Order: sequence, then C-alpha cells, then structure tokens
Amino acid sequence: MKIVYIASSPHSGSTLLDLMLNGHSRGFTVGEIRQLPRFVGPEQLMKRCTCGAPSILECPFWDKVNTLVRERTGRTLSDLNIDSYRDLDACRRDNRILFEAVGAISGAAFVVDSSKDVQRLELLLSMPELDVLPIFLARNPKGQILSMTRSGERKQRQFAGLSGLIGFYSYQNSKIDRLVRNRPHFRVRYENLVRNPVAVLSPLMQSIGLEYEPQQQNFAVHERHNVGGNRMRRKTSNELRLDESWRRDLSFFQKVAIDIGTLPGRYAFRKQRPRIGAGR
Ligand SMILES: [Zn+2]
Repeated sequence: MKIVYIASSPHSGSTLLDLMLNGHSRGFTVGEIRQLPRFVGPEQLMKRCTCGAPSILECPFWDKVNTLVRERTGRTLSDLNIDSYRDLDACRRDNRILFEAVGAISGAAFVVDSSKDVQRLELLLSMPELDVLPIFLARNPKGQILSMTRSGERKQRQFAGLSGLIGFYSYQNSKIDRLVRNRPHFRVRYENLVRNPVAVLSPLMQSIGLEYEPQQQNFAVHERHNVGGNRMRRKTSNELRLDESWRRDLSFFQKVAIDIGTLPGRYAFRKQRPRIGAGR
C-alpha cells in the first residue's frame, strides 16, 4: 500500500485534492490524520467523523480500525502517538501500526494523508518500511494569503500581518521543496486542479501507478471518513469554483508586495527536476 502525502501551506486546496484522490476506486483518504489525537483523546476536542457519525469511535470504519489495532497491539487508537515527536521511535512505530490497520480495513491500494505538515512528511519519509509519495501542492500566493487573513485560525494569528504571511508562504514552499526535490514526487498547482482536473489528475494517478478515473470528479458522493480538513470535506456538491476574490479584494500595493515578497517561495515550487511529474 502506498501513502500519498499532501504537503502544502494551509488554505491551498488540500481538502479538494484529498477528496478527488479518495474518489478513485483504489484510493482511501484518512484526511489530516495528524489531528487524530484531537478526535480520540480523552477531551475529544473535535468529534464528528465526515461520514456523519457523532464521534470517530462511533464511526463504523474507525471502529474496525480501532478493534484491529487493539487485537494486534493490546492498545487503542487513543493510545497511539501519532503526532508527538518527542519520542521518535514510538511515533514511527505507532504511525506504522495506524497505516497498517487503515490499509487492512480499507483494502485500498493507496491511502491519502493530507496533514500538509512538513515535519510529519519528514518523519514518514524516514521510515523505509513505508512507501510514501509526496505531493507538493501550492496555490497562487495572493489567493492563499487573502484566505489566511480571512480565517480565524491559530496559524493566521501566529503570522499576523501581511509581511508575516508573505514570509510564511516562501518559508513553507522552500521547506517542502528541499525535502522532496531529490526524490520522486508530484507537484500540483491548485488553480490548475480547479480549472482542468483531468489534466492534473491523469499524470498524478500515473505517478501513483494507477489510471485516472472519471468518478474522481464526483468527489462529493464517495464515502469518506477523513479526519480534519475544512468544511469542504462535508460538501455534497461536486461543483468547482476558482476563488479569485483577491483580484478584487487586495489593493494594487498589496498585490505588488505579495508578488515580490513571495518570489523565493514561487521559485521553490517551480523548480523542476528529472523523474518528477508535474500537474501544472
Ligand atoms: Zn466515518
């Protein structure tokens, strides 16, 4: 089983790509699985599964995964260390246990992890027993940054101000580029995915070793139990609309500042090397 890992900045369209990959008959998404502890921990900071189950542990899919993990290890999903790097050996072991159980229950040829986080990708790539294909996803920085400023989430406060967001875009893209550039991976530009999904998904599926299926565009109707991600993961419509409100809502000077400031990040994404597919 292959693990397809989406690495990107926040607000770059990872939920859409995640759902389109889940739409493949041989694919299955676990979403932003690094957030699993928030769903299964004692406090249950987040609850509902995307399938509609009131909690992850009441979801038929995750219940089976939980039972299998217990049978194999004597522990449960809430005992697994998925996202704490203080004990790297335990974190690697528990992620392997999780992926093996998800693979066994889903029967999928590839599982999508859209955690986005670079540190997590680094961890998974350091495990030779896992077959990981990184997907480097990037969005036009003007759209990504405007979307960040509109969201009330933690990341946005952390990088408050336009210059912070501009720096974060370049920092994040450069970090992903450094990690993936010398290994097989695939680059996707979000705008191209929305404008022409077939042109992006066909070579992307080939890099996974499978053929594109038209039903991937009916992403909203497929069963899904992904964890985390934005509201789009609950969508019931397949309609695609490119949000280009930045053209209207950013001032001329903001656009110029973003264009100049994000040059290093845009350059890091555009760099093209041999053996690499490109959906752009
Ligand atoms: Zn579910």
